Amino acid sequence: MTGGAIARVALDGAASQFFDYSVPETLRQAVVPGSRVRVPLGRRETEGTVIALPERSDFSGRLRPVSSVSTGSPALTPALVRLALWMADYYIAPVGLCVRTMLPPTVRGGGKAGGGDGFARELTVAAAEKMPEVEPTRRQTEILSWLAGGEQLLSGFCRTWGVSPETLRRMEREGLVAIRNRVRRRDPLAGRRVAPSSPLPLNAEQRAALEMIVAALPPEPTAESGARRCNPARPVLLHGVTASGKTEVYLQAIAETLRRGYGAIVLVPEISLTPQTIRRFVARFGDVVAVLHSQLGPGERHDEWHRLRNGEARVAVGPRSALFAPVERLGLVVVDEEHEPSYKQDETPRYHARDVAAVRAKFERCALVLGSATPSLESWRNAETGKFAIARMTRRATSFQLPSTTIVDMRVEAAPNSGGLPGGGARLVFSDTLVKAIRTRLDYGEQTMLFLNRRGWAPRVGCPKCGRTETCENCSVAMTYHRDDEVLRCHVCGAWRPVPSVCPDCGEEGYRLAGVGTQRVETIARTLFPKARIERMDLDVTSRKCSHEEILARFRAGKTDILVGTQMIAKGLDFPNVTLAGILNADAGLAVPDFRAAERTFQLVAQMAGRAGRGDRPGDVIVQTWHPDAPAIRLAARENFAEFAAAEIEERRELSYPPFTRFCLVTVKGSAREAVEECAARFADAAGRDDPRWKLGDPVPAPVEKANGVWRFQLTLRSADSVLLHERLRGALSAVQTPGDISISCDVDALGCG
Ligand code: ADP
Ligand code: ZN
Repeated sequence: MTGGAIARVALDGAASQFFDYSVPETLRQAVVPGSRVRVPLGRRETEGTVIALPERSDFSGRLRPVSSVSTGSPALTPALVRLALWMADYYIAPVGLCVRTMLPPTVRGGGKAGGGDGFARELTVAAAEKMPEVEPTRRQTEILSWLAGGEQLLSGFCRTWGVSPETLRRMEREGLVAIRNRVRRRDPLAGRRVAPSSPLPLNAEQRAALEMIVAALPPEPTAESGARRCNPARPVLLHGVTASGKTEVYLQAIAETLRRGYGAIVLVPEISLTPQTIRRFVARFGDVVAVLHSQLGPGERHDEWHRLRNGEARVAVGPRSALFAPVERLGLVVVDEEHEPSYKQDETPRYHARDVAAVRAKFERCALVLGSATPSLESWRNAETGKFAIARMTRRATSFQLPSTTIVDMRVEAAPNSGGLPGGGARLVFSDTLVKAIRTRLDYGEQTMLFLNRRGWAPRVGCPKCGRTETCENCSVAMTYHRDDEVLRCHVCGAWRPVPSVCPDCGEEGYRLAGVGTQRVETIARTLFPKARIERMDLDVTSRKCSHEEILARFRAGKTDILVGTQMIAKGLDFPNVTLAGILNADAGLAVPDFRAAERTFQLVAQMAGRAGRGDRPGDVIVQTWHPDAPAIRLAARENFAEFAAAEIEERRELSYPPFTRFCLVTVKGSAREAVEECAARFADAAGRDDPRWKLGDPVPAPVEKANGVWRFQLTLRSADSVLLHERLRGALSAVQTPGDISISCDVDALGCG
């Protein structure tokens, strides 16, 4: 590909139109779609990405020239340029921001004038290969003998042998040694030894799933066909109960992909991207795996990205953004736990990695696998209508035993005359059934996980006399009491203040702490099981005392008997010695005003149930609930997804919610409440309130009406006609004026209402 005379550039940042520039003769080779360039804008220079080389420009004036272009291969492959344009259009977002999302910051900045290319370098020294022209001195002969072992780091060599760099430079000039400036790879896995693993013999269900995926892979290139691809097969939805061996199927599908000469991308939810997960891929494929994790250092991220870009690595593993890994000749994309909400980005562009993965797979004509024990209803519906193929794995790969689940009706257990446990509060948190089950585990040296959806000590603090509750001054939410540091904390903005000793309104002394958070569960557990080793894992702990990884390492090593935690512990962890999982407040999510509340509750209970009994001993799951008859709880406890989905899908159809419509959320923000409300109303008028082809919700305050001092109103739009919906949204966005500090944002395929 060689360049043309005009480059169309998407500037970094929020401008939504493109700019055309002329390409000086000297840069024509290097400026191609996907190149990063510096260009003039007004009186300054800025950076952007070339998205096309058009024949002509619509701009009537004289085009200004591109100033410089980054060296090396273009940052984005042609397929990724196309994907960025698609995202900008579909998610109604500036292309510049889409490109920004695709490139790690260090890669974006690479190659700019004077800024280096982002690689780390190091000097090495080695004996010259040719015979020297001059006779070495005695000292020089000695130095050469130290170099007999081969190339060494210059700094280390000088330090070890007490040689000055100048001496070596002189020897270089005399042709005795060679000094090289070598790129040093910053390896996120450096120092961790990973024992290689080989493919396991698959069971019948796994084999069938693998065959279906392999059938969807692009064919091996032949002499005649070259790399030409036929049309892509349908995406495969892999519905496998927890621990059914989905990962092993992915690994073997990737092996076949590599064998055919293609690369692969594996997306994993951020929270499941543990060293344990990464190790499974590295153990099978070694250096061919590149990890793209936001927690890598910027240097490591840069180098891993380039290893993929230059083809040294062929398998990218990472969270949401790894979807944009520059894997050329892409053959397979795997989205594990495809139902996970963390695949949706909550800032512009608000893309959903699963959905964009489907588009990338279509563009690149490669196979797509979506795996989950609890698929999203969107994917489930696609399988029903035949848009996706479906593979089912109904049994666990190891023990062939699903855990047995007990639903505990808290209306009965927590009744005052139930006679069970000491201490009023404890009974509301730990049912008799749960306490007995934990005691048995402690007796047998087995482990327990206890899950609660709320961190802190008490989620509501208020006055029993006048009814005052403690809410955040910046945000319209109740503050949570945290006992570690004896403060009230806002979970939206992080603000904190001390607990008042008397009620500020009426002077009442006994302030009440209502509800239960993880801290309180931990404390109650310590009194109930004084000899047990108990740890807690939630955002409060992992952001301060010790990391996520350390807590899990101790748990894995059997140094903890009971692990109490939030969502953090519910996902993807695999501990063979855990034989009991307790879900303390299974219904907390049901009360949320969100059409996906039941789906989320089902996922949570089923995933948590999947934590128990992953080894050779069977597991038990205890689900405490005040609504034992809710289908989301009853059916999740048995991992009966199909029955739950059938009923839930009917409900969605009746109420015109996804997967039967596209659902968009428009949020208006600003510092003055009236102005925000008024602007939201104008947006509704502009979108057209009465139209049978879509449903437009009235503007209402957001669930958290005020956050960080900013007021928020929102309205929802849904329609079965995606094109129409986009048209209305775009029309209204450009028609509505936003005075002062008001801003309007738009979330296409929004996941929630918050
Ligand atoms: P999932 O991804 O579905 O949760 P995993 O792939 O993590 O399940 O598999 C669960 C456990 O079963 C792992 O310890 C894995 O090594 C083991 N396993 C998977 N497939 C097989 C198999 N065919 N034979 C024996 N063990 C298997
Ligand atoms: Zn707040």
